[in-house]
Amino acid sequence: MSRNQSASSRRYYLKHREERMELSGFNKAKEIKSYWAKKIYKNRCYVCRKPFGKGFAFHHKWYEQIDARYRDFNGNTDKYHRELEKFIISNPKRFLLLCKAHHHFVEWGASIKDKGLWNRFLIARRMTNT
Ligand SMILES: [Zn+2]
Repeated sequence: MSRNQSASSRRYYLKHREERMELSGFNKAKEIKSYWAKKIYKNRCYVCRKPFGKGFAFHHKWYEQIDARYRDFNGNTDKYHRELEKFIISNPKRFLLLCKAHHHFVEWGASIKDKGLWNRFLIARRMTNT
């Protein structure tokens, strides 16, 4: 990241952090998700455009060394989201807002490392017209 991008990210972070701090009782996963969904991700699933709701997630497009990983929070979703929002604020382009179904499918697609298998899957999809 260049010096300018870094300064710009920092300004963005500070601007939104102040905004965030003005909201009282803003500590629950549900509130944090709903806030950033509206603020940054058009309040809808990136794939199907369904409006934000239950089960939506901020999907990591890639991880960084210091990052919020759900598995490290022992199921404490409030704590996880308080940590995650710092990363969303500092680089919103690293995430996609996805509904539960599309989060699952994107993760499934990403888990397929075998190129042949992936190509056969795409071919099967193209051959299917149900
Ligand atoms: Zn969706």
